[in-house]
Amino acid sequence: MGIRSKDKRDIYYRLAKEQGWRARSAFKLLQIDERFDLFKDVTKVVDLCAAPGSWSQVLSKKLKEKEDAKIVSVDLQPMAPIDNVICLQGDITSQKTSDEIISHFDGGNADLVVCDGAPDVTGLHDLDEYIQSQLLLAAFNISTFVMRPGGTFVSKIFRGRDSDLIFHQFQMFFKKVYLAKPRSSRASSIEAFVVAIDYCPPEGFVPSLRNPLMKDVDYEETAYERDQRRKDPANRHFVPFVVCGDLDGWSSDVSYNLPEGYVSLKPVQPPTEPAYKEVLEMKKEKNTDTLSEMMEKGCRMED
Ligand code: SAM
Repeated sequence: MGIRSKDKRDIYYRLAKEQGWRARSAFKLLQIDERFDLFKDVTKVVDLCAAPGSWSQVLSKKLKEKEDAKIVSVDLQPMAPIDNVICLQGDITSQKTSDEIISHFDGGNADLVVCDGAPDVTGLHDLDEYIQSQLLLAAFNISTFVMRPGGTFVSKIFRGRDSDLIFHQFQMFFKKVYLAKPRSSRASSIEAFVVAIDYCPPEGFVPSLRNPLMKDVDYEETAYERDQRRKDPANRHFVPFVVCGDLDGWSSDVSYNLPEGYVSLKPVQPPTEPAYKEVLEMKKEKNTDTLSEMMEKGCRMED
């Protein structure tokens, strides 16, 4: 299995390289934009969890002509530079990073906040969903400081048991809330995107990073109480589920045959400091292609 087989299995992976995007995720933002016209009248944007940077590339391209454009992108990982994008490195759940982002938008003038945050998925569904929801929550809290009234918020969400509650709370801050599933996001993936439009916080709302939103500080629910709450229709909220992207276009769930003589391209911008860097170096050094071969040759991580 090499790059070519991934090209075949994943049409958006191949198209991303052909079109110069750093990651296939670019198509998700582009398809959400097709449906919601995200960039209309937008000049100031925050891109959270942005590495390797394909969403920032989309933003940079869309705002290219605008004189007063400002794009601030943040990730735990370092990011190779992108034209007209301020790249910050930090953890969006930390106060230090939040303060740094907020300092770029004095007076709260961001028109759009996007977040494609995902943890390193463990496969333990509840855990992955919980960690991802913490990124969504951090992104939302940062938005309450930087977003102008009328602004738009787009964030990845792993759909799960508590999604209804999250939608409900978003509805207190935005006039319209949708759940979008771009065609480039595999149907089998629990990932979708909250698109919250027209920011209008409740009267008297004061943003706080020390006591952030949706955090239940005083009251711990019992499992029984939580079950009862979930059963009560008043506590459930259904938001419109919208598929984005041309329905006659490429599907991320189909394997396409490669055209005759197709030459596989290298990724546009490989991660600068990937977690698997050491393994890649070892593979090169030992001249092997697979991890099992490396293990047969007796490599240890600390070799
Ligand atoms: N939108 C990106 C693009 O188009 O290139 C892809 C984002 S990738 C799916 C998820 C990113 O979330 C990773 O780069 C990861 O480092 C970042 N991330 C995860 N937890 C984070 C945290 N606590 N703070 C900042 N970034 C985080």
